[in-house]
This record gives sequence, structure tokens and C-alpha cells, in this order.
Amino acid sequence: MRTLIASAWFDGERYRDSPVSIVVDGERIAAVTPGEHAVAGPTTQCAFVMPGLVDAHCHLFLDGGELDFQARSRYQDAPLELMMEVGRDNVARTLSHGITMVRDAGDRYGVNHGIRGESKVLEVRSAGEALRRPQRYGSFMAREVSSDDEIRAAVRDIARSSDDLKIIETGIIDFESGSVKGAPQFDVESLRLIVRCAREHGLRTFAHCSGTEGIAVAVEAGIDSVEHGFFMTEELLRRMADQGTAWVPTFAPVHFQWRRPEAAGWGPDTVLKLGAILDAHREHVARAAQLGVDLVAGSDAGSPGVEHGAGLIDELRFLLECGLSMEQTLRAASSLPRRLWGAGSADIRPGACANLALFSADPFRDPANLLQASEVVRGAGWVRARAVS
Ligand SMILES: [Zn+2]
Repeated sequence: MRTLIASAWFDGERYRDSPVSIVVDGERIAAVTPGEHAVAGPTTQCAFVMPGLVDAHCHLFLDGGELDFQARSRYQDAPLELMMEVGRDNVARTLSHGITMVRDAGDRYGVNHGIRGESKVLEVRSAGEALRRPQRYGSFMAREVSSDDEIRAAVRDIARSSDDLKIIETGIIDFESGSVKGAPQFDVESLRLIVRCAREHGLRTFAHCSGTEGIAVAVEAGIDSVEHGFFMTEELLRRMADQGTAWVPTFAPVHFQWRRPEAAGWGPDTVLKLGAILDAHREHVARAAQLGVDLVAGSDAGSPGVEHGAGLIDELRFLLECGLSMEQTLRAASSLPRRLWGAGSADIRPGACANLALFSADPFRDPANLLQASEVVRGAGWVRARAVS
């Protein structure tokens, strides 16, 4: 038994600016009591505690700190063991920011599955390999399917080892023209088939899609979660709210391109386009919150300039900039994704599994304190997080 005393806390739904004592017995929370009571065993004190954070979209095999595009493309041929080392470093960075669960959004090499198999404290949901159309965007994370039979066989095969099914529905954004490259990869009928096959095998679906046309196909086909979703519309948001389609808006990778244009060689015209894309995205995320769309926080860590761990904290600050409250923002990175994915709750209540992020300062007092994670607890494991300033 061990007692944790925090000066303020967020239980997964609500914030309370008053002390709480949490007794952890083995893997479970035995008691949650208002006030400061050193009930049992050794006592840990912190300024703020909440359920362990969740990053809903990352790529564990990629180092977001690598900005050299040639080095990034050479890395695609690196030996698996080197990629696993990169993955392990990314796990350490992730935990050091108070994150206890990530959903990996695809890699072709199986690093995501490998890390899931060996990671003790960080819980990894792994999509394994995603699906894409032949010769289309996504070679580093997806396998090609052309016919319906290939789709059925691929989903059956992926379902053997993956927790979720990732689909590459569109290309990436061409920042110079300010639009999405190419037509959607799968039409409504093919994507419906994928969603149906995935459900038959008990998998939820999440789709890389940006551009109004591609998002419309994904929503029409009944995908569970739209990833990125740049060039969103009000009409699509209403539909997503109605049918319960989640949205992971991943500001971080685009924001990096805007903030550090020299890293990608962008000129002033492209910077203006990037700024306009981000402004529209902020407005749509704000509208999504008003309409009741399930907004989930995901960083796309591993993308150029988006480091694991720190990328999610940036993403939380972008959601706050859209006008979401701190409670809404923290729900989007804790209780909501776990509920949508049918994962066990990590809310702080008696009987729940101990899955906590401890902070040395309260983010409700100052959002900059989101960088002050000091320790994470998952089950019986207590891991000291490096305080990052
Ligand atoms: Zn991604």
C-alpha cells in the first residue's frame, strides 16, 4: 500500500482545487478521500494528479527530432534493431510527459507491435500496418490493397495482431498550393467494406484524411475516427456529431512547418498558406467542441518537428487556444479516448486500476505546468518522470 497526497486533482471528468488522498493497493486504487490523510504505507506528495495522459496518434518508430529529410528517408532502410532503439527512446520521452497510453498510427516494420510487446508501464495500442491503395501515399506505414478480395484478406490478417485498423484515405497536404494531393484513395463503397470487415474482426477504424472530399468519404463510410481532418466543414462536423465520429485534429505537425519554415525550405507565400490552414483548423475545432464532436488529442509524434511526449503537450495547448476549457482538453487526452476505444477507465475513483500522472505544479493555474509531470503510475509500477521545463 502507498498513499498519494495531491493539492489539486482532475479525476478524468472534473477538476477540484482541494487536496485529495489516494491509497494505492497493488494495481488498484483502494480509496480516494478529500483532504490530506497519510493513511497507509509510504506517502508521496504532489501538486496535481490526474489519470495518465493518452496520445491518440503517434508513430513510435519515428524520431520527431530528426529534421533532415534525407536522413529521414535513409532511416526507412535502417535495421529493425536500430528502429526498436528509437522506439524505446520514444517510450521514455512519452512517459516523461505523464503519458501512460498511446495509439500508434501505423508502421510497416512492426516496431509498434514490438514496443507493445515489451513496454511495461506505457500501454501501447498498435495498428500494425495500415491499408492504402497501390502506389499511393503511405508507403512507410501501410500495405497495398487493390481488389475487394485483397481488402478482406488484409483486414483478416491485420486483425490477428492489431488493436485498431488504420486506413490511409487521402494524401498529405501540399502546403505550397494549400490543398490536399490527389483524389481520395478509397471510394465510399470500398471504405464501407473495410469498416465492415474491421468490425467483424472486432477492430475500430481510424483514417488518415484531410481535404473536404476525403473527409466526406470517411464520414459517409462510417469510419470511427477522422485523423488530421484539415479543410473540415461545418456540414461534416454536424454529421460527425450526429453519428459519433471522433476527430483527432493533430495541429502539431502543421504548426511546426509554420513555426520553422526554414526546416522545410518554405518561402513567405507558403508560410501565409500554412497560417491560413491553421486558422481555419482552429475555427473548425472550436465549432466541433460546440457541436459536441468527440475531439481527441493526438500529436502525430514522429512527424518532422513533433517529438514524442512534448508533441502531445503542444497539442493540448493548441486545443486550449481553440477555446476548449482545461477540463475539456484533459478529457480529450484521458477519459474520452479510453472510453471510445473500450479501454479500461483510468478515472480516479476507488476500485479503478491505478493509472496516474503526477505533476509538480497545477496546469489549471498555468497551462505551462502541463510540462511539469514528475511521476507516472500504472498498475504496481511507479516511474519517475523527468521534469521538463
Ligand atoms: Zn500519422
